[in-house]
Amino acid sequence: MAGKTICILGGGSGGLVVANKLKKSLSAEHKIVLVDKLSYHLFNPSLLWLMVGWRQIEDMKRDFSPLKRKGIDFIQAEVNGIDFNNQAVSTTAGNVKYDYLVISLGADIYPERLAGFKEGAYNLYQLSEVIRLRDDLANFKGDKVAVMVSSIPFKCPAAPYEAALILNAYFKRQNKNVQVQVVSPEPQPMPVAGPAMGQAVVSLLNMSGIQYMPNTTIKTVKADKKELETADGKSIPFDMLVGVPSHGAPAVIKNSSIAAETGWIPVNAKNLQTKIENVYAIGDITAIPLPVGKPLPKAGVFAHLEAEVVAHNIAAKIKGGTADKEFNGDG
Ligand SMILES: Cc1cc2nc3c(=O)[nH]c(=O)nc-3n(C[C@H](O)[C@H](O)[C@H](O)COP(=O)(O)OP(=O)(O)OC[C@H]3O[C@@H](n4cnc5c(N)ncnc54)[C@H](O)[C@@H]3O)c2cc1C
Repeated sequence: MAGKTICILGGGSGGLVVANKLKKSLSAEHKIVLVDKLSYHLFNPSLLWLMVGWRQIEDMKRDFSPLKRKGIDFIQAEVNGIDFNNQAVSTTAGNVKYDYLVISLGADIYPERLAGFKEGAYNLYQLSEVIRLRDDLANFKGDKVAVMVSSIPFKCPAAPYEAALILNAYFKRQNKNVQVQVVSPEPQPMPVAGPAMGQAVVSLLNMSGIQYMPNTTIKTVKADKKELETADGKSIPFDMLVGVPSHGAPAVIKNSSIAAETGWIPVNAKNLQTKIENVYAIGDITAIPLPVGKPLPKAGVFAHLEAEVVAHNIAAKIKGGTADKEFNGDG
C-alpha cells in the first residue's frame, strides 16, 4: 500500500479534529497536511467570555506549530483554489497534491452587508472587535445595550442569547442598571431545536429582564444617531450595539464547482462525502437539510462529530476496512 496524502483545509473545530484523529489511526507512511491562513486555532465559543473578561486570550488560542511534533504537516497559507481534476489545492505557499481532501473552511463573516454595521456595532464574531468591546465595556456609561442579529444563517444559534445573558449578568454584578435587548429576524431563539427550546430561552430572557424582539429585520445601523432602523420603519435606540454579522461561504468555495448556488457545499448527510469522490466537507461550510425542513445549524459540536466520522472512514478506506461510520445529526 503506497503512502497516501490527506489534505485538510482549515484548522478550526472540524479540521483540527480530523488531523488529530487521522494521525492516531494511520501509520507514518501516510501524510497528513493541515492548511490554515492563521498560525493558531481559535476556540470561538470563548469569545463570549472574553467579552466580559471571564476568559483570557491565551486560554482560547493554540498555536499550530506543535502539530509538527505529532507528525502532522502544518502549512500556514491562504487557500485560493482547488483543482479537483488534478487533485491539487492552490495556496499562497504553493500547491498541495492530495489523495483525500477534507474541506473545513468554516463560514466567513461579511459585516459590510448590513449598512452601518461596521461603523456602529461591535462585531461579536471577530477577535479584535471583542477585545475592543471588552475594553470599552469597562468604561461604559450608557443604559441601553442591544444585541442584534444581521441575518440568518449564523454560527451558533445560541450565541446572541448567550451574549445577552452574559452581558446582563456582567452589568448586574457591577450594580449597573443597564437594559439589555436582543433583536433578531428569527421567529424564536434556536428555531431548529423546536418551540419548547425556544420558549425555554425566552423564559430565561424574561426572568433576567432582557427584552426580546423576534421577527425583526434590521435595515440600517444609524451609527451617528445610535439607532437601529428596522425593515418595517421602526427605530430602536441603543447606547452600545453588539452585533452578529452576516455570514456566507468563503469566496474560494462559493466560486468553485463543488458549491451549491447558495455557496455552501452539499454533502451526503451520513458520511459528509461531496459529489466528488474522496472529497469531504464538514462543519459550517456544509449545507445539510434536516427532516424538520430546516438546515443543520452551524455549530462546533456538529463540526467535531462530523470530523470523527470522516476521519474514521478515510482511515478505513486507506487501511482496507469498512468505511461505515455515520453522522446522525445529534448534537
Ligand atoms: C461567538 C461564538 C460562539 C460560539 N459558541 C458555540 C458553542 O457554544 N457551541 C458550538 O457548538 N459552537 C459554537 N460556535 C460555533 C463554532 O465555533 C463553529 O460552528 C465551528 O468553529 C465550526 O467549525 P469549522 O471547522 O466548520 O470552521 P471554523 O472553526 O470556523 O474553522 C475554519 C478555519 O478555516 C480557516 N480558513 C478559512 N478560510 C480559509 C482560507 N481561504 N485559507 C486558509 N484557511 C482558511 C480559518 O482560519 C479557520 O481556522 C460559536 C461561534 C462563535 C463565533
